[in-house]
Amino acid sequence: MQDCIFCKIGRGEIPSAIVYEDDRIIAFKDINPLAPVHLLLIPREHLTNILDINEGNVDLIGHIHLVANKLAKEAGIAEKGFRIVTNCNEEGGQIIFHMHYHLIGGEELKNFA
Ligand code: 5GP
Ligand code: ZN
Repeated sequence: MQDCIFCKIGRGEIPSAIVYEDDRIIAFKDINPLAPVHLLLIPREHLTNILDINEGNVDLIGHIHLVANKLAKEAGIAEKGFRIVTNCNEEGGQIIFHMHYHLIGGEELKNFA
């Protein structure tokens, strides 16, 4: 997807504060953090949202969870607690239409979208 902002971040064409990357996913700080720790985990491949997950690529979700686990521990929020969220389509609060997981923590969480 040529014009997708998260594809551009994945290709390094738009700068971001990257905290993790491998051949399949990249994690970076949200530009508008809702809590002291607010990271986004995205596949490098353009998937619109979880409706693009199928039998052929579902392993990606397990991988994202493993990396979220590691990043939560590294950020020091694992013991106290955190939240991972993925928004899907308009009423789900999705604004960027490249699948991403929010990893949010570092304070007592209320209702986040
Ligand atoms: P959504 O509502 O689609 O689940 O969340 C999109 C998230 O992407 C928002 O939390 C927003 O702050 C973040 N975001 C949007 N554009 C950029 C950007 O260019 N860089 C970074 N690091 N985060 C972004
Ligand atoms: Zn994309």
